[in-house]
Amino acid sequence: MGSYGVHSAPNAGEGQHAVTTSDQFSGWTPIAEEAARATKVLHPDAHQLPRPAQRRILTVANQKGGVGKTTSTVNLAAALAIHGLKVLVIDLDPQGNASTALGVEHRSGTPSIYEVLIGEISVSDAAAVSSQSDNLYCVPATIDLAGAEIELVAMPNREGRLKEALSPESLDELRPDYVFIDCPPSLGLLTVNALVAAREVLIPIQCEYYALEGLGQLLRNIELVQAHLNPTLDVSTILLTMYDGRTKLADQVTSEVRSHFGDHVLKTVIPRSVKVSEAPGFGQTVLAYDPGSRGAMSYLDAGRELAIRGTQMERT
Ligand code: ATP
Ligand code: MG
Repeated sequence: MGSYGVHSAPNAGEGQHAVTTSDQFSGWTPIAEEAARATKVLHPDAHQLPRPAQRRILTVANQKGGVGKTTSTVNLAAALAIHGLKVLVIDLDPQGNASTALGVEHRSGTPSIYEVLIGEISVSDAAAVSSQSDNLYCVPATIDLAGAEIELVAMPNREGRLKEALSPESLDELRPDYVFIDCPPSLGLLTVNALVAAREVLIPIQCEYYALEGLGQLLRNIELVQAHLNPTLDVSTILLTMYDGRTKLADQVTSEVRSHFGDHVLKTVIPRSVKVSEAPGFGQTVLAYDPGSRGAMSYLDAGRELAIRGTQMERT
């Protein structure tokens, strides 16, 4: 993984591994394809997902900005929630984008992850049910969180405060099957808290030229956390996002990431899609905003893959 420390020009062999969700509909007319996708998204009962034996806590991290952390967090969370799994999203980014996309109030003064981190309230006190699903909860982030990175420095157990807040006892009331923590684009104390609190890291990687830049730094930080603060932390999942099938480059990045990370990379690749980027503007996930879109279908597929791989990991 050494090559991730520097700018890495993708050059691996020509995308033979690229899988997009549209493959399963080859030969269909566009209308039939869209209708079939919408049916799958709107009636997921026929495709039940396994409930994990143990709660899964995943930190969605990549200090590179705009790679799809928040988009992947909220849409994977929604995909699992519409299958009946109970999901809690922790918005750990002062930008509050995950709260927006999940239709959860996050004006300054709203009970939020900031009050949880400074020990004033519990996670269940701060969790609000998302407008997107009754199974989906979100602890919002308000602008108050912007100062937390500095305030935490002087606090006792500064790296372990989120872990404490997410203890099994604290989650007794909500009992989520999945917890996703959406990180800010930095490797500061908030992200360290997220890495200490989780068992798994999910890294979204954007299929573009500079995608791999900075990944080495992220992996080194994860190793430091493993060595000193959270020995069981595991980079379990890599998700390729914003894949543009018209470019060779996207295939090259896909191949390079797969050759380095192997089975950790989900087979489902999230396509670049206008619908995905429009959805948060309506306080919605893409699954609700346009269930017949390729973006919705791909997040549904990625959620299913994540859930099924989880039960396979439990067995090994
Ligand atoms: P930040 O580092 O600022 O927190 P991020 O890593 O959370 O960013 P997002 O906010 O999820 O990234 O995505 C960045 C931008 O790209 C957003 O405007 C989002 O709507 C858009 N976007 C994300 N995924 C897709 C996609 N598959 N297709 C099109 N646009 C996308
Ligand atoms: Mg974000």
